[in-house]
Amino acid sequence: MSTHFDLIVIGGGSGGLAAAQRAAAHRAHCAVIESGRLGGTCVNVGCVPKKVMWFGASIAHVLDEAPDYGFHVECNGFDWGALKAARDAYVRRLNQHYRSALEKAGIETVEGTARFTGVREIEAAGRALTADHVIVATGGRPTVPDVPGAELGITSDGFFELESCPRRVAVVGSGYIAVELAGMLKALGAEVTVLVRKQFLLRLFDEMIRDRLMEQMRADGIEVLTGTRVTAVARASDGGLSIGTSGGGETREVDTLLWAIGREPNSAALDLGACGVRCDPQGHVPVDAFQATAVPGVYAIGDITGKYPLTPVAVAAGRRLAERLFGGMPERRLCYENIPSVVFSHPPIGSVGLTEEQAKAMHGDRVKVYRAQFTPMYHAFTRHPRKTAMKLITLGSEERVIGCHIFGAGADEMLQGFAVAIRMGACKRDFDDTVAIHPTSAEELVTMR
Ligand code: FAD
Ligand code: NDP
Repeated sequence: MSTHFDLIVIGGGSGGLAAAQRAAAHRAHCAVIESGRLGGTCVNVGCVPKKVMWFGASIAHVLDEAPDYGFHVECNGFDWGALKAARDAYVRRLNQHYRSALEKAGIETVEGTARFTGVREIEAAGRALTADHVIVATGGRPTVPDVPGAELGITSDGFFELESCPRRVAVVGSGYIAVELAGMLKALGAEVTVLVRKQFLLRLFDEMIRDRLMEQMRADGIEVLTGTRVTAVARASDGGLSIGTSGGGETREVDTLLWAIGREPNSAALDLGACGVRCDPQGHVPVDAFQATAVPGVYAIGDITGKYPLTPVAVAAGRRLAERLFGGMPERRLCYENIPSVVFSHPPIGSVGLTEEQAKAMHGDRVKVYRAQFTPMYHAFTRHPRKTAMKLITLGSEERVIGCHIFGAGADEMLQGFAVAIRMGACKRDFDDTVAIHPTSAEELVTMR
């Protein structure tokens, strides 16, 4: 067991593993310190188990639509426990895959909580370790608000521990997690109320997305209450929870309350002060464009930096940093512009670049917007059609595409290719000159007028 490394990565999640593996590929002697399960948030309590549940919810929707396609299907119930068991087993296989990949790459895994004892000096699992370079990739955890009884609720972590589908759920929040988990819970059998403190779900998304999403969630039978803050939570006499809300709103009785109000950084346990790194007031680690902190040889990537908390962002930042440090690519860094993302609602949402509001605030009347709204062919004869809406935002006389927003079936798989085009500087004319693929929803993006 070594005590000195070329690189120590603190946190074996999306960013940390990617950085260590890329550094090892460039022959760096690396260690990864992980206090929990390898794979971090994404693999254990994030993207992966979430997407499994989204697939499950999608099947519920298809079963509902099957009669419209002539199938006489009798659904004899949904076994949440069976899906959970299969999902958990899949996650365990991924944990093992990551362990084996680290071993194969010659990366040492240290199981324990790391804390700094000096500049590039770390204590973990009772060992004193040093390195030429240290990457902090400790991610974050769900926020629980400071209201009486808040501890009676669960967070997204608790959602993945549920052994059965709760009957009545209140989801508090309005971001990615609130929207995704509310949709899945509803499709899988729960009565769902979403408590939104302001007026919108996904408030920072394009207006078209916000409006279509609100409409669709309500049409699906999800109760969305806007302008509603939770003031207190208490145990009800029937064993459920009683939720008090602001603004004279009535008290709500539910079985499960799920907080989905954002995430906070895992920085306190690191004792970053011991190495001279100062966190911002929220606890994030500030970095420059090259992921470097103010202390030479100490870097941060992923959610801990507070910038675009998405798995591919953490991975890309980690790989590029490793290539810069060990791969002889001194200018290699992640460009944080035009990062695409998908919200796994039903239907999903894909978004890249500026919203119409942002574009107009920045560029005024040099912005031209193209819109399409239609019923996709799949839903042309389903009883509960889900509309698709698309928007392209262009800039200047050359009509460079600076924003693309899609609400509709297939948006999740559609967006990646368009994100490449936008990153390359594609103009509306390039979209127009691309021959459509028919019959698809995506073809609308190259035929807008
Ligand atoms: P993490 O993956 O959180 O890894 C940090 C690791 O550091 C953890 O394993 C932790 O145990 C460890 N650690 C913390 N402190 C210490 C310490 N002191 N010592 C040692 N180890 C420590 N993103 C997407 O792109 N797509 C999605 O669909 C998506 N869905 C999501 C769904 C949910 C419910 C959630 C919660 C998140 C989702 N995300 C999604 C976000 C994504 O999971 C994160 O952006 C990503 O995991 C961040 O990676 P990271 O490496 O920065 O941190
Ligand atoms: P988000 O930041 O997406 O949304 C949380 C929202 O909750 C806030 O924007 C705020 O919206 C609202 N809120 C904040 N505090 C309170 C409060 N006290 N009471 C009520 N509402 C409150 O956080 P999430 O937890 O949903 O997700 C964290 C991050 O993880 C996301 O930003 C995303 O980057 C990532 N993620 C990505 C996914 C994907 O790629 N598909 C899926 C899940 C997560 P407002 O100000 O409008 O009230």
